[in-house]
Amino acid sequence: MEAKESYDIIVAGAGMAGNLAAAIAAKKGHSVLLLDRNDPENVGRKNNWGWTCGDAVAGSHLDFITAKTGISFSKPELDVKVDGVYALSPDLEAKYLFDGVGYVLDRPEFERKLRDIAVKSGVHYVTNFEVEGPVIEDNKVAGIFGKDKDKNHTIYKSKVVIDALGISTVLRRRLPDNKFVEKNVDIDDIESTGRYIIEFELDHEDERYYDPKNALIHLNQEMAPGGYGWVFPKSGNKMNIGLGVQKRSLDIRNKALNRNDTLQSLIDQYIAWNPVIKKEYKLFTKDNNGKGIWSVAVRRQMESLVYDGYMGAGDSMVMPNPISAGGIGPALVSGILAGENAAKAVEANDTSVKGLWQYNVDFNKEYGYKTAGLEVFRIYMQSLNNDVLNYGIKNFLNVKEANQLALGMMPELSLSTKFSMVLKGAKNISAFRELLYAVNKMKELNAIYSQYPESPDAFEAWRKRVEKSMHEAKERFKPNPI
Ligand SMILES: Cc1cc2nc3c(=O)[nH]c(=O)nc-3n(C[C@H](O)[C@H](O)[C@H](O)COP(=O)(O)OP(=O)(O)OC[C@H]3O[C@@H](n4cnc5c(N)ncnc54)[C@H](O)[C@@H]3O)c2cc1C
Repeated sequence: MEAKESYDIIVAGAGMAGNLAAAIAAKKGHSVLLLDRNDPENVGRKNNWGWTCGDAVAGSHLDFITAKTGISFSKPELDVKVDGVYALSPDLEAKYLFDGVGYVLDRPEFERKLRDIAVKSGVHYVTNFEVEGPVIEDNKVAGIFGKDKDKNHTIYKSKVVIDALGISTVLRRRLPDNKFVEKNVDIDDIESTGRYIIEFELDHEDERYYDPKNALIHLNQEMAPGGYGWVFPKSGNKMNIGLGVQKRSLDIRNKALNRNDTLQSLIDQYIAWNPVIKKEYKLFTKDNNGKGIWSVAVRRQMESLVYDGYMGAGDSMVMPNPISAGGIGPALVSGILAGENAAKAVEANDTSVKGLWQYNVDFNKEYGYKTAGLEVFRIYMQSLNNDVLNYGIKNFLNVKEANQLALGMMPELSLSTKFSMVLKGAKNISAFRELLYAVNKMKELNAIYSQYPESPDAFEAWRKRVEKSMHEAKERFKPNPI
């Protein structure tokens, strides 16, 4: 079948990553096609439920966008500013500041703003288009195929395709077998998540359950096995409330408690558990975005984000932060870096893995260097039950150390520096030893990532080191929610 048109760059998916990638590449003067299955009003909508997300993003990520592009954000796309993100222990007796100033977005508004920027930059934006797979020529990606708004089979060709289709991408999964980009993601590295945006009346004030100035994360292996629950404030008596679970942890927890809970039943129990929400809450239905379920990957991003004629940005490359599942920041950052590097590769007339490699280096430097370490910390946390979490959050780390860990920096911990800490109970002593192991593993992986290969030739040997180190951590820590 003949290609309908040919472009320098095709960006598949007009979400957080795709809109920015397309805008940046078009601003550099290249012909850019941006494809998305939604109509313009619903740009970036993930699925039939809506823009399923907690919508919290760190201020530092938005600052990065502004510094790089001059784009600034305000109301209405920034719905509410929060001073920080707090993680609470299961018994709610202790909390750690997990992240600093951030925003809870009006997500549809935010995506429409990015869409307008892309269109103004000269992007050819085609809506209601279902991408079905990559066009492969000589084992390289040479375009995409799919169905247009009238369900006609259509091919578009390009020098490079940027995959910004999110977690359900049909492009990465249909790449030729290759040694750079993995096609599959282990189910243990995926969180099933869901949330409501609700309008509610406050029964009484209690900042452990709802804090209009801060985002709250509830760690609790019975309520959210292998994941966590969240309560993020929104403007005017609204909140984004939801929960994520790891399937394996949920199965173990259900078996141990002789329960049959699903993600949906856990979300409903979580809302019912929250005593500050009066029972008569209702869904906030603006943009038909009040309720939804979707998946988030919580592992390090794909070790290589590029293949011949192909780059990936955002969730398609499993970029969300492994401990917070925050994927908006890395999607925005990678979108910009992918757009810049695609443009450079087209100018240099080399869109092979080698020609696109600088994108890997740039993303690693900006964000990716810490995610393998954070993946280890996530696996460690999933191995702790509520009793150990309650004890550990109070006794293992001071606030500064916990904050460093959450940001991917390694605090200096040792049994001797913790001599003042009274470790009670065999389980807790063992959990603290395991924490030391996890922190050392995190250091090891951070060191490996600080040597991210400058060219593809050194990639295979480097990747083997990552896999070996990660395999050891995964053998050590097993899900143990109850
Ligand atoms: C319940 C939940 C809560 C979350 N909470 C947070 C949070 O609070 N903070 C945070 O930072 N992150 C959060 N995340 C993660 C965050 O939502 C994602 O990381 C982010 O949306 C990734 O952006 P993206 O552009 O890569 O992909 P997406 O937002 O998924 O955009 C992909 C786009 O591609 C389109 N598309 C997909 N397939 C096709 C196809 N075949 N053909 C045509 N178009 C297609 C989609 O419709 C969409 O428009 C959460 C995720 C979930 C599920």
